[in-house]
Amino acid sequence: MFAQELVMKQRAEILHALCSSGSAEHLERVLDILLAQGDLTWEDYQNIQVPGRALYASARQLLDLIYIKGVGTCGLFLAALKQVLPEGQGSGLSFSGCCSKIKEKEESRCTSTQTLLTRRPSLVNKLQGCIDGTLEALVVSGHFTSGDCDEVQLPIHTPSQQVLEISFFFLLKYQKKLSSSLSAQSCFLSTYGGTSNMPLDDIYTEGQLELAHDCPDINGPLVLEDIVSTVGTVNKDADTVLVSGQAGSGKSTLLQRLHLLWARRAVLQDFLLLFSFSCRRLNSEQRELSVQELLFQHSCWPDREQEEIFQFILDHPHLILFTFDGLDELKQSFSDEHRLCCPTQRAPVHVLLFNLIQGSLMKGVRKVVTSRPEAVGPLLKKHLCKEVLLKGFSPTGIDCFVRKHHTDPTVAAKILGSLQANTALLGLCHSPVLCWIVSQCHMELLGCGEGSPQTITDVYLMILQHFSQHQRPLQRNGAQIWLQEHIETVLHLGQLAFQGIGTTCYLFSRADLEACGVSENDISMGFLIQSKDMSSTHSNHYEFLHVTMQCFFAAFYVILTSNIDRSTIPKLFETQDMKGTDQSSTCFGVCLTSTNLQVKTVDWGATAAETPNLQLTATFVSGLLSQRHRSLLLHCCPSLLIERKVRQVVKCLSKGMQKHFKSIPQPVEGEKKSMHAMPGFVWLIKCIYEMQESRIAKDAMSKLEVDHLKLTYCNIGPVECTALSYVLQHLRNPIGLQLDNNFVGDVGVEQLLPCLHICNSIYLRNNNITDEGISKLIAKGIQCENFQKVALFNNKLTDACTQHFAHLLKTKQDFLSIRLGNNHITAEGAKQLAEGLKFNHSLQYLGLWGNKIGDEGARALASALENSQTLVWLSLVGNGVGSTGACALANIIKNSTSLEGLWLTENCITRAGVEHLIQALQHNTHMKSVWLRNNDLSLEEVEEMTQRESRLIF
Ligand code: ADP
Repeated sequence: MFAQELVMKQRAEILHALCSSGSAEHLERVLDILLAQGDLTWEDYQNIQVPGRALYASARQLLDLIYIKGVGTCGLFLAALKQVLPEGQGSGLSFSGCCSKIKEKEESRCTSTQTLLTRRPSLVNKLQGCIDGTLEALVVSGHFTSGDCDEVQLPIHTPSQQVLEISFFFLLKYQKKLSSSLSAQSCFLSTYGGTSNMPLDDIYTEGQLELAHDCPDINGPLVLEDIVSTVGTVNKDADTVLVSGQAGSGKSTLLQRLHLLWARRAVLQDFLLLFSFSCRRLNSEQRELSVQELLFQHSCWPDREQEEIFQFILDHPHLILFTFDGLDELKQSFSDEHRLCCPTQRAPVHVLLFNLIQGSLMKGVRKVVTSRPEAVGPLLKKHLCKEVLLKGFSPTGIDCFVRKHHTDPTVAAKILGSLQANTALLGLCHSPVLCWIVSQCHMELLGCGEGSPQTITDVYLMILQHFSQHQRPLQRNGAQIWLQEHIETVLHLGQLAFQGIGTTCYLFSRADLEACGVSENDISMGFLIQSKDMSSTHSNHYEFLHVTMQCFFAAFYVILTSNIDRSTIPKLFETQDMKGTDQSSTCFGVCLTSTNLQVKTVDWGATAAETPNLQLTATFVSGLLSQRHRSLLLHCCPSLLIERKVRQVVKCLSKGMQKHFKSIPQPVEGEKKSMHAMPGFVWLIKCIYEMQESRIAKDAMSKLEVDHLKLTYCNIGPVECTALSYVLQHLRNPIGLQLDNNFVGDVGVEQLLPCLHICNSIYLRNNNITDEGISKLIAKGIQCENFQKVALFNNKLTDACTQHFAHLLKTKQDFLSIRLGNNHITAEGAKQLAEGLKFNHSLQYLGLWGNKIGDEGARALASALENSQTLVWLSLVGNGVGSTGACALANIIKNSTSLEGLWLTENCITRAGVEHLIQALQHNTHMKSVWLRNNDLSLEEVEEMTQRESRLIF
């Protein structure tokens, strides 16, 4: 009999032999042997020996594990058992099939860790009874402190565990150091640095996490731990997970949370060591480093046994996790040209990083990398095991964050109330950083009445005003001069920010600050914070509260100073063209006045990673030059200068749009003229929105001549919807607006309403929309003459939305198409829809694929549609429809003069149902096909019925 079967058959007896004495000794000795032989990993051992777990439970866990590991491990286990059981105790057990004798393993490598592991069983024997002496010796030699000894001798530790503690003590010590430094770095949120210390535990709010690709096994959002787990893996050979999200969507905070929970052993316990890195800080490493130096010098320094620890890391890659925050902030774009596979070889930090990501270095170590999506090209994507999108807060997340931020419930309720009243602002709050600003500035928000913020520039101006008036109470009548009072500070910070953006610099030394005239007073305003990095290299360095703030100040500088080159604004608005290309047409270095930072000038034109910051700066430039803020600026700089810059920006926006329009291909004959938006189009639209001048929007749209505008997979959330709607409403001719696969949500739908009148069709597949969004969409759609088609595949719709569609169908007798596939509509919803269909004389397409309407729903629809003379296409695929339903649907076929295709694939229709369909088809000659694949039919039935009616497709 094979060893595996023997283990299974004798499970009860083995458990008895191992545990009946009540002592863990036998079990531990078996574990020691398996560990020494390499059949159990250190991780397996920890999973079995969980402190406080009952002996029998541990033994069962071991039996399960060795069974899974296969016949070899089972054989070794039986041999180990035979060896440890005292004479007579194992007499009832059969050991045939086990390897007869266990030899102490040859030591192939001679690190002390390895020796301790392979010699473990004999060491345990030898150390029994003299642990105290060993510990004493370790203390005398300076390897252990008395505190270390106390830990080893904890009463919960058995002798075997005590030996293990000694063997891996240095590692556990290092783990502790790593945990406490991560915990110290991550327990407070940095954006609060300038104002107050907010513990992460008190403020952390779950963001929306989704896989970037479709995964049939995953329904709904991911949780934090899924990032590192195997959930949604697309490339099993890769070790790197990418978390991508816009600036301010919460990527750094998410990593911070992950670090904090790991440090507390609350998540990711499979990882013994976690090393975290900030790409922002790695930028300033000029030396070439080895992996070991990277880990120890940039993450956590081991106080002793560096070589052993590094060897352990190399030997146990699956126990190690690396996190790299902000890949987009690295000066170099990802490349896999320079391959490196030796962990001791030195290389520039970016080369190490890229090799770690692609797995040529430290294969098997899990890596989590965060980045803005624009900075991730196909070259990097091919090395990812999966990509997770961080989409900011959900509507409930906003609610939850505001309530956490304000412990006073009346203040929280007031803020939430004012957000509900200003949905453009609510849309902005999906971005956590803006949600933070809005919560932070509640006084301004609640007090400002008519001037409630609409644009992202408004929100950043609000925080600037908030921080600048931090020391002094609000002066209502001096509202326009607050900027004037702080203009020096704004210019100093602006110069620093601008030069930093141009040189990929986000960490500033004292010398950098001085070169831009930044004083203590400027720092005290709160926008610059001291770098939190623990390593000495960056102590005394400063960074902006958030990179978006840096962009904001950079924009201020571009506008207020006369010190920069005239070509700066055009260059800023050209950045879109560089995306994904290698051309390096522009370099801000040339426009800078001479400073420390200029020395670091790099050719940022070559890195696509920089584009998002430049685009955001351009967006703020547009916003600050808006007519609404001009009076604020005019207190600070000559009007001629401002006017010239306004003219420049307007020209750039117009030129940018023209470029996009020129790229639209001529339509193929018979097809509509369609524009698939290029990257940068949505950004330009957002810039126009920031300017808040309908004249500019009108002008931009007057030249766009398309029938169909496709903006799929463009990261369009509520904020983008506000901007799109603001601009598109000025289109001259109606279009089909395709926004599939974005994250529009209900708030976004509401934002789109002002442009619904120019949409003849709107496609919102896969956009997280609920019945609430639909009720608003339809209420508006009914009043829009052009609106004729809607596609809502894969959203969160239930029966509650169908009454609105029924109302639409009754009211709009020119509506053509409703597609509601893959939602949650049941028979009740179908009945509601039928109420509308009865009175409708225009609908041509009705799609309900993947709902649950069943026979009852099919009957209701059939009776409403049996006299329809317009319906061309009906899909009830995958709806649990049986023969009763098919029989009712046959009536539509019988009577209809318009129906061409009926889709009934993946239902449970039997022969009886199909007979009705065949009969009905005999009365209908124009019908083209009835799809019946995957129903309850035998092969013979299918064959026979195909012979009788060729329009049935099985
Ligand atoms: P990113 O790294 O994507 O640019 P950050 O993580 O720096 O974004 O987030 C910016 C700010 O937004 C944070 O400093 C914090 O104020 C707020 N924030 C982000 N995510 C969260 C969260 N999950 N819970 C609470 N606040 C958050």
